[in-house]
Amino acid sequence: MSDRPHSHGVQIIAVANQKGGVGKTTTSINLAAALAEIGKRVLVVDLDPQGNASTGLGIEVADRKLTAYELLVGDIALKDVILKTDVQNLSIIPATVDLSSADIELISNKNRSSLLKRALRQAAMDDFEWDYILIDCPPSLSLLTVNAMVAAHSVLVPLQSEFFALEGLSQLMLTMREVRQTANAELRIEGIVLTMYDRRNNLSHQVEQDARENLGELVFRTLIPRNVRLSEAPSFAMPVLSYDGASQGARAYRELAQEILSNHKQMAA
Ligand code: ADP
Ligand code: MG
Repeated sequence: MSDRPHSHGVQIIAVANQKGGVGKTTTSINLAAALAEIGKRVLVVDLDPQGNASTGLGIEVADRKLTAYELLVGDIALKDVILKTDVQNLSIIPATVDLSSADIELISNKNRSSLLKRALRQAAMDDFEWDYILIDCPPSLSLLTVNAMVAAHSVLVPLQSEFFALEGLSQLMLTMREVRQTANAELRIEGIVLTMYDRRNNLSHQVEQDARENLGELVFRTLIPRNVRLSEAPSFAMPVLSYDGASQGARAYRELAQEILSNHKQMAA
């Protein structure tokens, strides 16, 4: 079946939304940790010059000698930019502020949109090394996010449970469509996950209802609650699953991991 998704080997998921502060990095870190906890071998690619995923997973700036920037711009082997984290089964390609100049530096490179895909091809060929690669995108639809979409099998969109949440989604979908037409015909939506959900807040319910009405099956059943443990964990340089594994936030990201796994099993069947 030609429309069958990539059921074997590595699954590459871009975590994207051009809005800042919606939970991309929190989702990348904690979904990665939850998948790793089940025994999946997970690689996080920090594609945001802010380097929040790197910091949140305990990679000090001094240890970021080779980063996503060198991987894209230089001719560096994938294995040379991968660092292990303190979490078992979880590695990362870190980022520094250097990455912010990639957009401009690559402007005359005719392969500029597919550099990450090319770099990750080495991982895709080796079925035994990685099960999941999560790409934490910057808050824009820039060349970096396009690189993530070109390299990925799917896009996971965190949506903050607040007013105007759905605004901007059509722009993201438009960018995805362009990527499908030009470079990655098979690109799917992994799902839309509502973050910072507050059960006691009417607005959260309204946003959820709106999202489910308009986007239907694309919206994950799992809701990520607003949980202070999730916002504290990065300053302790660990995922919430390590920081407070019994917290609501940890439980929610475990549930999201299970939902994604069961979706992938259904698609592979
Ligand atoms: P993005 O990567 O989209 O910019 P972040 O994941 O960095 O967003 O989240 C923005 C801020 O909100 C961070 O300070 C983060 O700790 C906090 N945050 C994210 N998700 C939650 C949540 N579910 N509950 C509480 N705080 C959260
Ligand atoms: Mg971020």
